[in-house]
Amino acid sequence: MSIASIIRQARSEGRTLLTEAESKAILAEAGIPTTRTVPAATAEEAVRAAEELGFPVVLKVASRDITHKSDVGGVRLDLRTPDQVREAFHAIMAAVRRASPDAAVQGVTVQEMARPGTEVIIGMTRDPQFGPVLMFGLGGILVELLQDVSFRVVPLTPRDADEMIREIKGFPLLEGYRGSEPADLAALRRVLLNLSAFVEAHPEVKELDLNPMIAYRDGALAVDARMVVDEEPRG
Ligand code: ADP
Ligand code: MG
Repeated sequence: MSIASIIRQARSEGRTLLTEAESKAILAEAGIPTTRTVPAATAEEAVRAAEELGFPVVLKVASRDITHKSDVGGVRLDLRTPDQVREAFHAIMAAVRRASPDAAVQGVTVQEMARPGTEVIIGMTRDPQFGPVLMFGLGGILVELLQDVSFRVVPLTPRDADEMIREIKGFPLLEGYRGSEPADLAALRRVLLNLSAFVEAHPEVKELDLNPMIAYRDGALAVDARMVVDEEPRG
C-alpha cells in the first residue's frame, strides 16, 4: 500500500495514531529499513505469518489503546516453533487483559526477529516555531535517564546528520566501545537524511518515533515504529 492510502485508511477509521505495521510500511516506502511486520488476529493466523516470514519471530500486541507494549506483557521475542508462537499469542492476550482490561485488542503483529546490535532511537516532532525537528539518541534505560539526545531542524544536511550522531555523549558506544559491535554510521546518516526528506514531503505526519532502531556493523533496522498524522487532509 502507498503512503497516501495507508493514511487515508486510518483517517477513515477516525484514527490519527497509525499502527506499528502501518508506520513500518510507510517508513519502508520512505527508504528506512524495518523488520517485516504482519498483522494476525488469531493464533493460527500468527503461525501462518511466522511460517511465511521464517523463524525466529517476534509477537507483539496490536492495540490502538496501547503505546508501551512491553509494559503490559505485550512483546514476546525469539519464538522458534509454531507451538511457541501459539503459546505466545495466548500469553500476550492474557497478560494484556490483566494489565489493561479496557484496551481494545486487534490481535498481534508477527515480525522478523532482528539480531542484537546497538539500539538507537530516532524521532520527529513539529515545533510551532522551527517546524519539523529530528532527534537522535541511544536506546536503553541509561539513556532515558541521562536524556542524552541531539536535535536538528529539518531539512538536514549530511553534515547535520553526522553531527547529530557524533555529539551525543554515548557516541563511543557506536564506535565499538570495549569490543561492542561498531555501528554503521553511514547507514544511520542515510536514515536521518531519508527521514528528513520524508517529513518535509509529508506535512500531514505530525510525529514519528523509531524506538528502537538497531544499528549493526552493516546497516540498521527499525524494530518498533509509531506515527501520528493530522486529522484532516490538507488542501
Ligand atoms: P514497546 O512498545 O514496549 O516499545 P517494542 O516493540 O519497542 O515495544 O519492543 C520492546 C523491545 O523488544 C525493543 O526495545 C527491542 O529491544 C526488542 N524488540 C522489539 N521488536 C524486535 C524485533 N523485531 N527483533 C528483535 N528485537 C525486538
Ligand atoms: Mg519501542
